[in-house]
Amino acid sequence: MRELNRRNWLKSTLAISAASALSTKKLNSADTEGNPNDHFGVLVDTTVCIGCRNCEWACKSAHDMPTDGFNEYKDREVFKEFRRPDSGALTVVNEYENKVNPLLPIDVKVQCMHCDHPSCASACIVGAFKKQKNGAVTWDTDKCIGCRYCMVACPFQVPTFDYDKALNPEIRKCDFCYKRTAKGELPACVNICPVEALTYGNKPFLIKEARDRIKRNPDRYNEKIFGEYDAGGTSWMYLASKDFYELGFPKVSTKPAPGTTEAIQHGIFAYFVPPIALYSMLGGLMWYTNRKNSLDEGDK
Ligand code: SF4
Ligand code: SF4
Ligand code: SF4
Repeated sequence: MRELNRRNWLKSTLAISAASALSTKKLNSADTEGNPNDHFGVLVDTTVCIGCRNCEWACKSAHDMPTDGFNEYKDREVFKEFRRPDSGALTVVNEYENKVNPLLPIDVKVQCMHCDHPSCASACIVGAFKKQKNGAVTWDTDKCIGCRYCMVACPFQVPTFDYDKALNPEIRKCDFCYKRTAKGELPACVNICPVEALTYGNKPFLIKEARDRIKRNPDRYNEKIFGEYDAGGTSWMYLASKDFYELGFPKVSTKPAPGTTEAIQHGIFAYFVPPIALYSMLGGLMWYTNRKNSLDEGDK
């Protein structure tokens, strides 16, 4: 497998070199369709979620991915470890201690945030990613060359790489059930949630709904709606009873991340810096941005 991966990396690097020389994609424009207010998204109310993990099962079923039996998802032992979405699970639920009420732990579903200004799309040199009119950030596996710039650029560390398909590279992430949502159907996770912890709607509706809940129950909620402005705004947004940074959320700027990565890419490509160097520089930039955001937050 190591050899395959190494060979695949070489293949990717050669493909990137070719793409960087031939690509006609405008690097200074993220592939974003429409007005963020028209985009649909989901409000995740972590104060309602019971950690049943039905959404994990439904997500895999909707994407024809291997699933354990439905009952296996009742196993709460998985909460002992912090998990991230990966190529075998496009969404996962993590559980956190609730110091106010230890009998009611806090469960947080994690998946792609479907950013209003997706840095995965602006980092992709072959234009494989696209923010669709309905809010979903999707990607085209036929265009993807497996360079993994999107993985480096994402402020939420969401895209993952299916290493089992080393000769046919595949990026995997939540696609907002685009096949369903494009037809007006609910995403599979929203559809199955037994306690309506997930609310589907357009962004203005979701923000109003979130503000109404906070107003009705100020003791229950942290005032912040995560995703209203974070990373320039995201289609998926969250409510919580405590500080989001204690619940695994990253400290991201309110500025859209693509502005910085695009400017650098544009400059680099203008001077034909080799793509491997770009990969390193983007990695360094994301590290610097995350560190700066952490320090900024620490100053508050
Ligand atoms: S969370 Fe990451 S992968 Fe998802 S749209 Fe935003 S930048 Fe792209
Ligand atoms: S929207 Fe679809 S792809 Fe995304 S987490 Fe929910 S079920 Fe999975
Ligand atoms: S299905 Fe709903 S309640 Fe169950 S873990 Fe997922 S979001 Fe939480």
